[in-house]
Amino acid sequence: MYIASPSFIFYAMRSGNVLPITSRCNLQCIFCSHKQNPPGVKVYHLPERSPHEIKKSFKYLSADEKIIIGESATGMVEGEPFYYPCIKEVLKELRRRFPETEIQITTNGVLLEPSLLAFLKQLEPLELVISLNTLGSRKEALGDFSGRDAVTILEEIREAGLKYHGSVVAIPHLLGWDNLSRTLLTLDERGANTIRVFLPGFTRLAPSSLGFEPSLWEKLHRFIIDTRKALSVPIILDPPLLRDLEARIEGVIKNSPAYRSGVKLGDVIQKVGDKKVTCRVEAFNLSRALENPTLTLKRNAENISLTLGKKEKESPGFVMYSDIDPYQMNEFAGRLKGLKGRKVLILTSMLGYPLISNVVKGNRGEENNTVVKAVPNEFFGGSIMSAGLLVVKDFIQVIKNIEMSPQVIILPQKPFDRNGKDLLGESCLTIPEKTGFPVITI
Ligand code: SF4
Repeated sequence: MYIASPSFIFYAMRSGNVLPITSRCNLQCIFCSHKQNPPGVKVYHLPERSPHEIKKSFKYLSADEKIIIGESATGMVEGEPFYYPCIKEVLKELRRRFPETEIQITTNGVLLEPSLLAFLKQLEPLELVISLNTLGSRKEALGDFSGRDAVTILEEIREAGLKYHGSVVAIPHLLGWDNLSRTLLTLDERGANTIRVFLPGFTRLAPSSLGFEPSLWEKLHRFIIDTRKALSVPIILDPPLLRDLEARIEGVIKNSPAYRSGVKLGDVIQKVGDKKVTCRVEAFNLSRALENPTLTLKRNAENISLTLGKKEKESPGFVMYSDIDPYQMNEFAGRLKGLKGRKVLILTSMLGYPLISNVVKGNRGEENNTVVKAVPNEFFGGSIMSAGLLVVKDFIQVIKNIEMSPQVIILPQKPFDRNGKDLLGESCLTIPEKTGFPVITI
């Protein structure tokens, strides 16, 4: 186990406006990623920190972006924030130092009770993300022996008037699809603003009983689309199954600017103001940044235009998947243009492959000297398919087996930290050294 140094903690805070509190947790979820890492993986546990130390670190937070608590950041293990004994003292001071900044706290909810909820209400603007995960089999699946009823917790949050979002790690192969449906319907009925469903990730070290077929991702995707018909709140799948960059609306939060202006599920944003959008992230960021933006939308076969009545930097209230950062997208397109006529190998994660191969086709046409290849997460194994968990040896294995001699290899930046090292501490420079091909990361 590695202990996070102060400089590591401050770097994590800066990169995502995250305030790390504790790595300890009151539950023992069977899918908890913190327990399944193969040996050698550099994930960092937070040392026991005094409230004074946590408060001192506030200077690394920005008042201009939402402050996030309870989410893992850059290789750090985040536990349950309300399990930290001095959480109230820390939150009170955080609000004093950042009087207007929205605070988001992710919690399993088990330790929330009416007096704590009343305290949180005084700290608004604040929203909770409740990792409910399952209504049934809570002892077996989550190690929840608190005896607290999950429905009562949700009702108490609603009674306190706090805004919250629901999150669910889907394990229908273990607990059944009915249990998943019931959990999602309960979140909808008990006032969640949005619901996010996560595909579980199991590494090669997880017990085989937890494993599932790769087709579960597709099945969950279809299940979410069907379940939307029965729910009144937006619901999305994480990771999403994306094949294009169309800025499609996946749901609209009730009473939000988008809701009042008549934006609908399935609308595709073409333009925000006069700016033609190239991807979802750009459409969302522009809509959020502007006051009263005019949206040009494609609805079925028609183009319509409407104005979102909202303040500058206010959330537009529609939900869409996150695809590609527009700056990264421009850099990628620029690089591909600059490499015209050269043999290029583009390596991507299994999850990113459908989207990246389409983006490359859009930029390179049918040029047959560009190959896009998905890299399996051999090191983590199991069901893991994400870029953030690829390591140098996974890339080398694919490059060594490919039947081409690329002039350049493009890799995703995600698996590497600010020093260019993967989760095992190996530098991305090892790849050109061991394969003989030049490499760039985007
Ligand atoms: S609540 Fe989160 S951190 Fe705690 S055991 Fe479950 S998954 Fe892990």
